[in-house]
Amino acid sequence: MLTIASIGQRSTILIHRKDQKVLLKVARVKSKLKVSSSSYRPLPSIIAPFVQVLSSSRTCQSYYQDNSSIGTLRRLHTSFQISSSSGAPQSGSLAVPNAIRRRDELWKQEKERQSSLRSKHGPVTVHFPDGSSKQQIDANTTFASLITQDSINPIVGIYLDNGSLVELSRSLGEFGPKDVTITRYIYFQDTEGKQMFWHTSAHVLGGAVEMLHFPQWDSESLTHLKSVPIDTKRVSKESLSERLVPLLDDGPPLSDPPGGFYYDFHLPTHLKEDSFEKLEKLAIQSFVKRKFPIERLSVSRSFALDMFSYNPFKVALINKIPKSETIALYKCGPFIDLCKGPHLPNVSLIGSFKLLRGSGAYWQGHSENPYLQRLYAISFPTKDQFEQWKTLREEAERRDHRAIGKAQSLFMFHEFSPGSPFFLPHGTKIFNKLIETMRSEYVTRGYDEIVTPLIFDKRLWQTSGHWDHYRENMFLIKGGDDDDDKIAKKIVEGHSSSGCSHHSHAEGETEEPFSTGLKPMNCPGHCLTFKAESKSYRDLPVRYSDFSSLHRNEAKGTLTGLTRVRRFHQDDAHIFCTPEQIEAELHGVMDMVEHLYGRVFGFPYEIFVSTRPESSMGSDEEWSNAEQALMSAVKSVGRQFTINAGDGAFYGPKIDFIVTDALHRKHQCATIQLDFQLPQRFGLTYVAADGTKKVPVIIHRAVMGSIERMFAMLCEHYAGKWPFWLSPRQIAICTVSEKHVEYAKDLLNQLKKDFNVELFMDDQKLPNKIRLAQMAQFNYILVVGNNEMEEKTISVRQRDGTQLGSMKLESLHSHFETVLADWK
Ligand SMILES: [Zn+2]
Ligand SMILES: [Zn+2]
Repeated sequence: MLTIASIGQRSTILIHRKDQKVLLKVARVKSKLKVSSSSYRPLPSIIAPFVQVLSSSRTCQSYYQDNSSIGTLRRLHTSFQISSSSGAPQSGSLAVPNAIRRRDELWKQEKERQSSLRSKHGPVTVHFPDGSSKQQIDANTTFASLITQDSINPIVGIYLDNGSLVELSRSLGEFGPKDVTITRYIYFQDTEGKQMFWHTSAHVLGGAVEMLHFPQWDSESLTHLKSVPIDTKRVSKESLSERLVPLLDDGPPLSDPPGGFYYDFHLPTHLKEDSFEKLEKLAIQSFVKRKFPIERLSVSRSFALDMFSYNPFKVALINKIPKSETIALYKCGPFIDLCKGPHLPNVSLIGSFKLLRGSGAYWQGHSENPYLQRLYAISFPTKDQFEQWKTLREEAERRDHRAIGKAQSLFMFHEFSPGSPFFLPHGTKIFNKLIETMRSEYVTRGYDEIVTPLIFDKRLWQTSGHWDHYRENMFLIKGGDDDDDKIAKKIVEGHSSSGCSHHSHAEGETEEPFSTGLKPMNCPGHCLTFKAESKSYRDLPVRYSDFSSLHRNEAKGTLTGLTRVRRFHQDDAHIFCTPEQIEAELHGVMDMVEHLYGRVFGFPYEIFVSTRPESSMGSDEEWSNAEQALMSAVKSVGRQFTINAGDGAFYGPKIDFIVTDALHRKHQCATIQLDFQLPQRFGLTYVAADGTKKVPVIIHRAVMGSIERMFAMLCEHYAGKWPFWLSPRQIAICTVSEKHVEYAKDLLNQLKKDFNVELFMDDQKLPNKIRLAQMAQFNYILVVGNNEMEEKTISVRQRDGTQLGSMKLESLHSHFETVLADWK
């Protein structure tokens, strides 16, 4: 609906929607407009430029077009637009705004200026990864022109011998006065390659969105027929139409999987899915097919601020770039964007470009900011690769643990406790089985399980360092003993006769209101346990395991199924040992990891050893011994590893295990972390053989990591077809008719001690019962009818339909035993 608002000293913008009316009060305070309403907060400053435009025109129109309900002002921001012509602007009908023309003009001027300044550079010798080299090459030659491309597996970037990742569009002269050595080619399949590919594609999406709004920009800018004179005064007081340009915010690539990229926009109109096809077409026809190169220009901060002065979002991005960093602009056909890079040399390498979905996000993630439209998309060198990706995504959705968890009634969530899973009876069976698996390992590997508190006084968190460094991630609690004491003391102190409630006194309290916190980790509690009794070297190593609930205050918006939760459990353990024992202990942990991942779960994994960072505590000797011990432990199980140099925590080096699941997705699970610091913070000691007091080392270790995340991973890895040992539904007994119920119950009683077994004995027909049992993923289906009852046998079939024939209960038992032994 359209509403006319006249902006005077004090005006009202009336926005109609169906039978609702929303009033915004607009007041002119000095030269600025203040927009407010009794029920809404004032417009945030980012929108202020839009509103100020209103004042210069005296009369204008605003419209609200959103089919969702008017809830808050921030919903209005996205659709609250100012129109220069009568009626709502039509998508694609806008004149190319001066700011956009000017952007192009400024680029050309700056490029010419920079090339005239470029000093003459002698010829360069280039060395290629295969050992060959080319001499006497002009320094202005780009890397791209030296490389032969393959359309199916294109080279998207290169590594130079100084370790830097370089775009193919850069010229040789920028990297060496005489010799330039390429050490490695980056292909699309490489992690960096995908990032470069999708980074570049995000620019194409940005360009396509601009072009969707002013199609004539296409022909004008591409041919460069018109050179638009720049009137800087006019630009600084832009006309209304200038504000109708799509304002682009940020467009980053996403990590793989799922991969792809998105771009956030503030648009004059709400883009719906019917625009997707148009945008894809524009991306392909107006960019990819035209084989635009990606040109780069490093510019001064003031230049960048000037070029993007029409866009408050880009201005904010520029202002966020540290002073020490170069500001780079990238041009792809008519589209110029602020970006760090690196990018492809040319958009023609994009063979497939698909819009996936639209959504929205608050600018910079704050709900008081404008709501931006977000478009998700993905691109590949070939169409086949997109098809493969799509198949894999569909498979991933089919395997999504949230869907399987619901279908199999394994777990649920409730808004009254976000991010805290409820495990239902069948899910609890899996959860307990995972813990039981670790417990049985602990028995043979010399761990002691302990049970420790969930809530601790803040003094514990101050000692461990969590109070200073981790508090935002913790759930803090009011009303510990300390708080009660304080309140009681206040009441006694001179206020006893006043009769006022103690709440009014507590209000004046300026101290930290929280005195306790729910534990996010077990380590500090384990330190208290270790310290409670004096220890000698003969007592070490002490290995405490703990399956306690842990709580971390993750932002509500980031919570996802069982993989990102607020409450979780770990197969956590802390080994307190002497420095001499580190190596043997690490061997033990490595062996356990190998056993669990290699044998029990069958997950392939990679190992990363992170070494001493620049700022760290502990002596050179301690670090070098610890790093050696970590590496030798990895080697002891015959595994390769990658060193992440300088990536260790300041308190010690670590080993990370990255698991690859059935869908080639990588998950960080097990970790082994050496810690020199915590024992010192807690003043832990043991009496050494020579009678002196020494500080033990702590090894933090988790093999499964979070049980909840492992649950999710296994669910997706097995696609809900749980292996027999872990299955919450191992055996279904299906009766042919009512006559066989007694016999079936008898079997149930004999099996339920050892297995998860259920009866299917309602009045459905047998094939239906079998189908239901198969759909519920029972590993074995036992059928009992007349023959079975008479001969005291069972007819056995597996989940996949394989018939094992009829057998006696004893032989079925021994069959199960063999199957289970396979998993141990
Ligand atoms: Zn980019
Ligand atoms: Zn720990």
